[in-house]
Amino acid sequence: MRVGTGFDVHALVAGRRLVLGGVTIPFDRGMAGHSDADVLLHAVCDAILGASGQGDIGMHFPDTDAAYKDADSRVLLRQVWQLAATRGFELGNVDATIIAQAPKLAPYLAAMAGNIAVDLGCAAGSINIKAKTSEGLGFTGRGEGIAAMVSLVLVKR
Ligand code: MG
Repeated sequence: MRVGTGFDVHALVAGRRLVLGGVTIPFDRGMAGHSDADVLLHAVCDAILGASGQGDIGMHFPDTDAAYKDADSRVLLRQVWQLAATRGFELGNVDATIIAQAPKLAPYLAAMAGNIAVDLGCAAGSINIKAKTSEGLGFTGRGEGIAAMVSLVLVKR
């Protein structure tokens, strides 16, 4: 059994889509970044890479590479999962927390978990996603950005 953790932050800015867990969420701002800036999927990628001992997302998909401009992070997630699967890993479970003052994310969490389950080829019940505010404190509380934290377990076949 191997444990991985992931963490990511992106700034909230005008003129960008807000995409979390592959779900486009209606909001007056979106995430700044080279790719679609999906903080949740980036944190999941880092946790998979961490648990399988393969570095981090920036090593595999550099933000200086034009190929990843506005990239769909679900495509990146599927590529990362292949790296783990080819090393003989299966998913145990994913537990994730999104930290955002707004918008309210509860209506979208099941769809996010469904997307991740599809991309990792596992049961939706293996993916748990929570959303928290930071009680108005810090950069997330001021609505300057959204953060995501992920823990997961991989099991060697
Ligand atoms: Mg990122």
